[in-house]
Amino acid sequence: MPRSAALLPEYDRGTVPEGLVTRRVLRDMGLSPGDNDGPVAILRCRRCATRPNWSCRHPTRGFLLRVDLARPKRVPTLAQELALDRAMAARSTCPTCSRRYYFCLPLRKVGCCDPCAQGYEPTPGTYVPITTPVCHRLAA
Ligand SMILES: [Zn+2]
Repeated sequence: MPRSAALLPEYDRGTVPEGLVTRRVLRDMGLSPGDNDGPVAILRCRRCATRPNWSCRHPTRGFLLRVDLARPKRVPTLAQELALDRAMAARSTCPTCSRRYYFCLPLRKVGCCDPCAQGYEPTPGTYVPITTPVCHRLAA
């Protein structure tokens, strides 16, 4: 994974320069490696820190990544999900009969659902049963 791990600077816990964290810490911060295309330094494990000439080669070493190159993890926000849902609703709702179907309608080619275009009652189960009852008339 690292291009030249042997040439990377090594740090002990507590001496790591600011701005360098392990992938695990990055994840806990809600970040992904982003533009980090490899580790920039190595975090030596505690055991190695106590042995000055010990060349640590066991997997408890951590590869350090740069926080400034990290990117926020792509988590769709509620607004994005809402926009997606609206886009899907627009593609599956017939402008003529206002039924929302469980599939996308040929709105560009036909402009409405097939039952409207052909003049028949749509098959129950192919569209969403009325979800938004018109109730504001009751207040009048
Ligand atoms: Zn229709």
